[in-house]
Amino acid sequence: MTDKVSHLVLSVLPQVVSTDGVRAMMESALTARDRVGVQDFVLLENFTSEAAFIENLRKRFKENLIYTYIGSVLVSVNPYKELEIYTKNHMERYRGVNFYEVSPHIYAVADNSYRSMRSERKDQCILISGESGAGKTEASKKILQYYAVTCPASEQVQTVKDRLLQSNPVLEAFGNAKTLRNDNSSRFGKYMDIQFDFKGAPVGGHIINYLLEKSRVVHQNHGERNFHIFYQLIEGGEEDLLRRLGLERNPQQYQYLVKGNCPKVSSINDRSDWKVVRKALSVIGFNEDDVEELLNIIASVLHLGNVQYGGEEGNACITSDTQIKYLARLLGVNGAVLTEALTHKKIIAKGEELMSPLNLEQASSARDALSKAVYGRTFIILKFKNTQQRSVDGLLSSHFYLCCSFEQFCINYCNEKLQQLFIELTLKSEQEEYEAEGITWEPVQYFNNKIICDLVEEKFKGIISILDEECLRPGDASDITFLEKLEDIVGGHPHFVTHKLADAKTRKVMGRDEFRLQHYAGEVNYNVNGFLDKNNDLLFRNLKEVMCMSENKILTQCFDREELSDKKRPDTVTTQFKASLAKLMEILMSKEPSYVRCIKPNDSKQAGRFDEVLIRHQVKYLGLMENLRVRRAGFAYRRRYEVFLQRYKSLCPDTWPNWQGKLSEGVAVLVKHLGYKPEEYKLGRSKIFIRFPKTLFATEDALETR
Ligand code: ADP
Repeated sequence: MTDKVSHLVLSVLPQVVSTDGVRAMMESALTARDRVGVQDFVLLENFTSEAAFIENLRKRFKENLIYTYIGSVLVSVNPYKELEIYTKNHMERYRGVNFYEVSPHIYAVADNSYRSMRSERKDQCILISGESGAGKTEASKKILQYYAVTCPASEQVQTVKDRLLQSNPVLEAFGNAKTLRNDNSSRFGKYMDIQFDFKGAPVGGHIINYLLEKSRVVHQNHGERNFHIFYQLIEGGEEDLLRRLGLERNPQQYQYLVKGNCPKVSSINDRSDWKVVRKALSVIGFNEDDVEELLNIIASVLHLGNVQYGGEEGNACITSDTQIKYLARLLGVNGAVLTEALTHKKIIAKGEELMSPLNLEQASSARDALSKAVYGRTFIILKFKNTQQRSVDGLLSSHFYLCCSFEQFCINYCNEKLQQLFIELTLKSEQEEYEAEGITWEPVQYFNNKIICDLVEEKFKGIISILDEECLRPGDASDITFLEKLEDIVGGHPHFVTHKLADAKTRKVMGRDEFRLQHYAGEVNYNVNGFLDKNNDLLFRNLKEVMCMSENKILTQCFDREELSDKKRPDTVTTQFKASLAKLMEILMSKEPSYVRCIKPNDSKQAGRFDEVLIRHQVKYLGLMENLRVRRAGFAYRRRYEVFLQRYKSLCPDTWPNWQGKLSEGVAVLVKHLGYKPEEYKLGRSKIFIRFPKTLFATEDALETR
């Protein structure tokens, strides 16, 4: 593990000073440290204090120092303004340099990962997390730019970079939406691979999207919007394109766009965004025909939303065939077959196929299920693929939503798993280093969130199993019976409570149809409404059949005929999600991770505003204090003998100007001379470990005042 220490302030001081200047120098060194804080949180005197942590962030933020380390984890605070720290000169400064020799920077993380990949031949991954607007996308762009400039050139380098960067506007158009909290909120998770050849040149990469909040396609809360692409197309699409798609230039015409009563957002220009997206689509490899097919699908979803049902004796029928005509053309399917599939359900009884009519409610939900499936599956293939070599560098963004629907339950579960992995890996790497250095491991007290992961995912008695069981149970199963089952089975769990089980105080802030989980990041109430339906995510077989017959090339990729031959009931959403998370964890475990934790300083996107409440909240749910505790459990600082000796040898007559013997002995002589007490440090095989920052600071100060 690499280390870094606050050199920024101290190294600007001249090496030789007159006695008069000494006090002034010391003061300026101390005031500077006071003023700009420490560049690694492990050097905080009071490392368990959240207030000290926040104060350090604040000091640095004020000085435009947006990056700070916790060991090898980079904490980044969005400056909301352009900083002059991303120039070619900066890139050169970080190239091939040890982490601690330069001030914290995203380039240091990028460079370090890249070099480990090259020298240790181990796949790397960089995990970038933080809430929407915290700067994850920017961070990933900076990493890509760094690689594009500093890696050996390959023929593909420009294409790889362009494609990875340009996939962003496309993914944002299809996967981001205005929510109450954020005008441009990502409603999905993303994993990005960059592949390098044996010379270290980037040759390919791909992006995996997961868990899109599909329900947004058919419903939005008040003040929220559907995914940006719908508005972009309607506002920005050329006249003849809209004519071909049968769309009007008015979002109010579409049922799927009126629910939130919020067609326009002042911070968003749908028309100009449309142009960006259109261009980006061609960069990521969509030709004119592909784009046309993609837009046919987007328009179909809007038409589907406008399919209205009426009917006698409870049997649904479609009131007007205008939409069906468009749908048949845009989706490349037979209109009559589609109409039947939107109003009937195929059942197989005694080996015979029967068409059973749907009532109004069933038909509407069948229609919405189709819209969600079509959009959701299209979103998943919205990525380019260009796989070639080994050595992968992945990026992953995730968010913790503190709202309360089914999708957020899944996303928060994902975050819980990532946190578990994060703590496990941090602990593991600490332990490995101690072992390699022959230093006794001292057990660390930390909060292990396995208990919450188990509560969600444990076989038979976890929340997902209980939900699946209710989904499969015929008869009177409903969201409420699911809640009751939860109360029966996990009611006594310390991280779970419902209205019925809560104490009077908690009950006041909980609905009767909610359960509350105590996540590592805080409490979240989940409303069980829609849990069963969304988990089932059932698309009737005959609707699947219609889609499999589609002539739209994108849809034929999305709806595989093999799905039809499989008579088995498809896995529920949470079960699929659990499996894909397990796979993701496996991928991440097999790589060497680096972490970038992004923080949003305020909700108004203002430069220079440090909203303490908001930041404290993020420090908590990013698990930063826990991370620092684990990293600081033993020693605040560690450094290879040769580096330590080189820096401080002038402080001891026996080591100056050069130590001739074994490095470890030289360091032992040096620290003895400096008066280190035995409990303050340990000598490992190749490194010295120093327990408290103040020991190190005293040595640094001695260096400056020599
Ligand atoms: P996220 O991907 O986490 O939702 P973004 O990376 O899109 O957030 O950041 C939101 C906005 O904040 C960006 O559009 C940009 O204006 C600003 N921003 C983020 N990081 C930086 C940075 N390092 N320097 C300058 N501005 C930034």
